[in-house]
Amino acid sequence: MIIVMKAGAAKKDKDEVLRRIRELGYRPHVIHGETRDVIGAVGDERDKALLQSLESLHGVEKVVPILQPYKLASKEVKKEASLVRISDDVVIGGRQVIMMAGPCSVESEQQIIDSALAVKKAGAHILRGGAFKPRTSPYSFQGLEEEGLKLLAKARDLTGLPFVTEVIDPETAELVAGYADILQIGARNSQNFALLKKVGQLRKPVLLKRGMSMSIQEFLMSAEYIMSEGNQAVILCERGIRTFETATRNTLDLSAIPVLKGKTHLPVVIDPSHGTGNHHYVAPMCYASVAAGADGLIVEVHPDPEHASSDGPQSLKPAKFEAMMAKLRLFVEADGRTL
Ligand code: PEP
Ligand code: MN
Repeated sequence: MIIVMKAGAAKKDKDEVLRRIRELGYRPHVIHGETRDVIGAVGDERDKALLQSLESLHGVEKVVPILQPYKLASKEVKKEASLVRISDDVVIGGRQVIMMAGPCSVESEQQIIDSALAVKKAGAHILRGGAFKPRTSPYSFQGLEEEGLKLLAKARDLTGLPFVTEVIDPETAELVAGYADILQIGARNSQNFALLKKVGQLRKPVLLKRGMSMSIQEFLMSAEYIMSEGNQAVILCERGIRTFETATRNTLDLSAIPVLKGKTHLPVVIDPSHGTGNHHYVAPMCYASVAAGADGLIVEVHPDPEHASSDGPQSLKPAKFEAMMAKLRLFVEADGRTL
């Protein structure tokens, strides 16, 4: 249910609504609007009629049901686009298109520092790098774990770039959150509900990847798991889905951008590296993503892709990344945005 407060409702009226929502066994989430606040009340769906009684409280304009199964993620609750602040000068969801770039995995100090310097020089805003790697095979490189997080922090100190890195289980989530600026939930974990709840309790922005067999509705339900625990800073990431097509590693669903934009206020980022699996296809998909309205991109860049421990074939060399960024800027500016 959404409790729409009257424009200019007093704080004591709002506090009373919050108290009553909790008393009825629901969790309130205040969403500040331009002219009025709305309060999302989430909890057990079965006796939501109880909330209707709040309509008689002072300062309440109306109580309306949220029709979608996802509530806090829905545009019904919040029409304006959400801005997710990463650092003093990096915000995702605004006029600036945000570029996250770096290697699939952190491999060594030299490799992550070289990558960070290269992507920074080309104009990236955020460094990416996996320290805990969820590999399809147990015999593949599993990542440097905490040592990798320390190296990412070193690269951040050197370049000023915040970093995004993956969290693979609830047990190590706090450890990762102690270092990272953004917690990535990978495609393979996007319906790991215990993990979603855990990152929902942490106070760090979350980059939630779409699972490879996930519908848009299921994707938004996963975002809802995070938000319903109190963490509203969720960034959605389309990274390709499984189809019958084998010419690309996955099928990058660019139509997800306008579809999501119609359903949610959360920012949408595209990962063309995992989406295509081939470095030749990354630049054209970046340009197309911007044209389709993506708020940002996450791209794999490696100083020596031929010898990468993971995802070399889809990683751009720094010079290619820099050339791509120069052309991307033209598309971004044509759309009236900045890079
Ligand atoms: C990654 O970002 O390196 C990764 C493993 O991504 P995904 O979960 O989308 O496969
Ligand atoms: Mn990868």
